[in-house]
Amino acid sequence: MVQVWLKKGKERSLWRRHPWVYDTAVQKVSGKPQNGETVQVMSFDGKFLAWASYSKDSTLRARCWSFVESETIDAQWFENKITKALAAREHLFERTSAIRVIMGEADQLPGLVVDRYGDFFVTQFQSAGVEYWRETIADILMKQAGIRGIFDRSDAATRHREGLQERVEVLRGEEPPEQIEVVEDGIRYGVDVRNGHKTGFYVDQRDSRYLAQRLAREFKLRHGRGMRALNCFCYTGGFSLALLAGGADEVVSVDSSGEALETARKNAARNGFDEQKAKWVQADVFDFLRKAREAGDTYDLVILDPPKFASSHRHVDRAARAYKDINLNGLRIVSPEGQLLTFSCSGAMDVDLFQKVIAGAVIDSKREAWMVARLGAGEDHPLMMTCPEGEYLKGLHLKLR
Ligand code: SAH
Repeated sequence: MVQVWLKKGKERSLWRRHPWVYDTAVQKVSGKPQNGETVQVMSFDGKFLAWASYSKDSTLRARCWSFVESETIDAQWFENKITKALAAREHLFERTSAIRVIMGEADQLPGLVVDRYGDFFVTQFQSAGVEYWRETIADILMKQAGIRGIFDRSDAATRHREGLQERVEVLRGEEPPEQIEVVEDGIRYGVDVRNGHKTGFYVDQRDSRYLAQRLAREFKLRHGRGMRALNCFCYTGGFSLALLAGGADEVVSVDSSGEALETARKNAARNGFDEQKAKWVQADVFDFLRKAREAGDTYDLVILDPPKFASSHRHVDRAARAYKDINLNGLRIVSPEGQLLTFSCSGAMDVDLFQKVIAGAVIDSKREAWMVARLGAGEDHPLMMTCPEGEYLKGLHLKLR
């Protein structure tokens, strides 16, 4: 048995069932583990700590599968974990056919992401450990009822840190269609699993899309007219379609990618929404907001869901300035008593700091605002309480006074 011995004191985080072992915590390795192979993690004084996968090139030298010595990490173990993960999301099918069915560390499968779109699974193998078990995992997934194929989108940059090449290919079964149609809360979306962001769709924003739909509906009931909304960084139109479905009169959507806007437009047509109500603008959001403000435009609801501005802790300061900029200008164009939904998917920026940045923007905008809710990823993206690093998406729902 290959063993990874930790330095004195480094056993503590594993006692707290945190699943990561950094290279700097390792005293010695007995044996020559292959990349991804299962190893035993031992404390400095020879006590069993965990079963883990070994990653020879990564600063995350080992990721724990299990803290129970009597468990055996084999095909049956993976089948149990995967079946459990799938069962925990079963109830979501009533709402949607786009579901994150496996969320890495939260499902005790560090580095594995699996999204389900209709009859297809899309996988991301982001650690040497899950890569090592790739065929086993694929066989188990392919056995699930109703699955026609598995597409592998293992093209995340994180693979390089694990000593793995990028890989984008059919893993099992049928080729997925160019666009897989999913239906979420009554709205149809086309998902391009080959070229789309992440595995093709921002599955994690489901609850906030539904909130946007509800806000549009409530607005219409209260005011007798549909709202005028602005969706910044709209990508393929997620929030825009939700607003249209809720009865918005005008939805202006901004993105810098012409391709994303084209897909968004097709998504709107897929749902038969009135073309007159949707305006798709190819622009830089920073410029767009500045110009909208200068022109004195206002919106009943502004949504800001930018890409990750901070890719690591080193970039947090710069990112904070960018978040401040768009939120300040975003707030300035919210109509009196209008609303703002603002998000950050930068894992390096925590909820507290994000809230401080937004508070700063509120102060500078000279507006008065209530925070009525904190927003985040849906329940299919759970956070393992023992691994807080898994938290990345956060949002605030503000009502201006
Ligand atoms: N809100 C989307 C996801 C946003 S992804 C959803 O719910 O589906 C981020 C998007 O921001 C991408 O589509 C990217 O093209 C766009 N983007 C990045 N930088 C931008 C900028 N400076 N101005 C406008 N769009 C930008």
